[in-house]
Amino acid sequence: MNDERGVIFDIQRYCVHDGPGIRTTVFLKGCNLRCFWCHNPESYRTGQDLLFYPNKCIACGKCFTLCPLGCHSLTEEGEHRIDRARCTVCGVCAKRCFAGALSLSGKESSVAEVMKTVGADAPFYRNSEGGLTCSGGEPLLQASFVAALLREARAQRIHTALDTAGNVPWEAFEAVLPHTSLVLFDLKCMDPARHREVTGADNGRILENLARLGKGKVPLWVRIPVIPGVNDTEENMVAVAAFLRALPMIRKLELLPYHALGASKHESLGGIYEHKELKAPAKERLQELAGCFAGADFPVTA
Ligand code: SF4
Ligand code: SF4
Repeated sequence: MNDERGVIFDIQRYCVHDGPGIRTTVFLKGCNLRCFWCHNPESYRTGQDLLFYPNKCIACGKCFTLCPLGCHSLTEEGEHRIDRARCTVCGVCAKRCFAGALSLSGKESSVAEVMKTVGADAPFYRNSEGGLTCSGGEPLLQASFVAALLREARAQRIHTALDTAGNVPWEAFEAVLPHTSLVLFDLKCMDPARHREVTGADNGRILENLARLGKGKVPLWVRIPVIPGVNDTEENMVAVAAFLRALPMIRKLELLPYHALGASKHESLGGIYEHKELKAPAKERLQELAGCFAGADFPVTA
């Protein structure tokens, strides 16, 4: 088996929303977008991260004495602080926090190690037409590892899917597509200025890659996270519909409602989540937006 190694922050089994059937989703670390609503902010950086959940802390004080750099401290108000500028993410404190308030995110794994978990559910995949999905983060930032992983899954007759936001050079797709049975393409919004504002990056390369994929050989599901105030307008959806009309490989479009599950994760990484007021769009609103794709050659789910 290939000895490539990749950095992974989670492997979830029995997933039913990352492609057809029952799937195992492997989440790869590293992303070059910064969507503020991201529900996996621990994927942003390629290296390991220290997560801290104050609500789980039982104030045992162990981490204060264990940290070799003295990064844990109490403020005058009694708040537990971590000096992240000095923290080297050595993991010593997380290893001994039995309350589960501290943990490390990110682990280097080989293809064989990941396939041990993925292969364990092969009977479920066969019975449900499911398989393996590589997600992230942006899995194509580790294209060579993802290609090796999907190649091995294929060799074991496991269906393979790639979940990408597409902001990578085309060469990354070229490495992975020969081993991919389905691409899930996350599309944010069509307006370049708005896209840059809410994700930190231009959408030119993303749309170019989507157009190329849509005229290629691998079936494609386009998925739009519907974020209130960002892309939940008829104008945006009509523009998406016009763009997708020219792409024969699209098999499905999914409108995915925003949810606030990432808020506590942003804070566990030492950040502040400034969008707590955002609410998930109503089912009726999603249905209205789905109407913008009337006449499309593919089904739309909302
Ligand atoms: S070791 Fe864990 S539970 Fe104890 S003070 Fe540190 S974070 Fe809190
Ligand atoms: S990960 Fe290491 S350096 Fe960072 S706070 Fe914990 S013990 Fe200190």
